[in-house]
Amino acid sequence: MRTVIIGNGPGGVELANQLSGEHEVTIIERENVPHYSKPMLSRYIAGFVEKEKLFPYSLDWYENKGIVLNLGIKAKVIDRARKRLITSDDEIPYDVLIIATGARPREPTFEGKEFVQTLRTLQDAERIKEQIEKYGDALILGGGFIGLELAGNLAKAGHRVRLVHRGSNLLGLDEELTRVIIEKLECDGVEFYLNANALKADENGVFTDRGYVEGEVKVCALGVIPNNEIAVKSGIHTGRGILIDDHFRTSAENVYAIGDCAEYNGIIGGTAKAAMEHARVLANNLRGKEDRYDFEFCSTVFKFGDFPIALIGKTKGKGEWLDEKTRVFLEGEKVVGVVVIGDVRKAMMLERKIKAEVRINEL
Ligand SMILES: Cc1cc2nc3c(=O)[nH]c(=O)nc-3n(C[C@H](O)[C@H](O)[C@H](O)COP(=O)(O)OP(=O)(O)OC[C@H]3O[C@@H](n4cnc5c(N)ncnc54)[C@H](O)[C@@H]3O)c2cc1C
Repeated sequence: MRTVIIGNGPGGVELANQLSGEHEVTIIERENVPHYSKPMLSRYIAGFVEKEKLFPYSLDWYENKGIVLNLGIKAKVIDRARKRLITSDDEIPYDVLIIATGARPREPTFEGKEFVQTLRTLQDAERIKEQIEKYGDALILGGGFIGLELAGNLAKAGHRVRLVHRGSNLLGLDEELTRVIIEKLECDGVEFYLNANALKADENGVFTDRGYVEGEVKVCALGVIPNNEIAVKSGIHTGRGILIDDHFRTSAENVYAIGDCAEYNGIIGGTAKAAMEHARVLANNLRGKEDRYDFEFCSTVFKFGDFPIALIGKTKGKGEWLDEKTRVFLEGEKVVGVVVIGDVRKAMMLERKIKAEVRINEL
């Protein structure tokens, strides 16, 4: 079976890994480097990891697995009738095609956006790292997980960090959890500007509706936009992302989508963990094994500097403390979500219990 995967992020590379030895796997990737870890980019910028450590797989790894890796090549359109992927270089025949093109950062729309950068790729990270090393301070726009990871790591490395966030709550969590995150990061030196909308940027900082915030190196982390262009050009149905069913099938025969580019029932994964789980479930489906991914169930661990936090299941709304590091979310007596601070192993144990639909007195 000739399986062509567009994208060498965690979704694409994990699928290739799963199917190698069973399928003839080819990856098309527009970047010029083998797979690297995006969750580690903030630590790299802060100087806590060497560049080499970002790459879990060498080029030999791909070769030994029999995976053909085509770097520096852009997938342009899918010729569905002829079952060929048209790239910037060539035409590649496929039996099965997987779109794993990920997402790109949402760009700011305000005046002076040329003074603000975004973080998604290794190249972005290298540019930001160079500037941080030159100027020292950072101004981060957006209190999502990428903004918090970068803020935590840069503060830990001794840089002055200011974080502007338009809301009062972080990560969609309730007030108490937001307070815990803020207190922890403030302890490391992050300065928060909450309920502040960025209106304009200049060389030295950002004008917000709550005043001017200084910062020469400005990084905008205001969420992502799924890369669905190849699907649009190929006549495949899209919404915000590429529309898929519960088996990752797109509207085109033998064409699937996984990871940050895929949208199921209005839901977009948005994490490396989700992209890799999509890949594992799709690999089973392609092997003819029934397997399902629960798109409604979110489970992620983030590390903001030294501060790990796990969000499992439904964590919106008001929770209650089970102990000082565990906040649970209930529907009646049933536990539907949990946020665990610090103890990631405990989070994994609780995830199993929540999936088993336990009641609060059984935790
Ligand atoms: C700084 C940062 C920190 C993060 N931290 C965490 C974290 O702590 N935990 C977590 O779970 N997630 C984290 N994430 C999110 C996570 O990295 C993404 O959710 C994940 O990478 C999505 O994987 P993917 O395979 O769907 O897409 P991507 O990783 O975006 O990979 C898609 C690949 O497709 C390629 N591509 C796109 N279009 C084309 C085309 N037309 N032709 C050829 N190639 C193409 C791109 O170049 C890219 O390499 C972080 C992300 C960033 C940027």
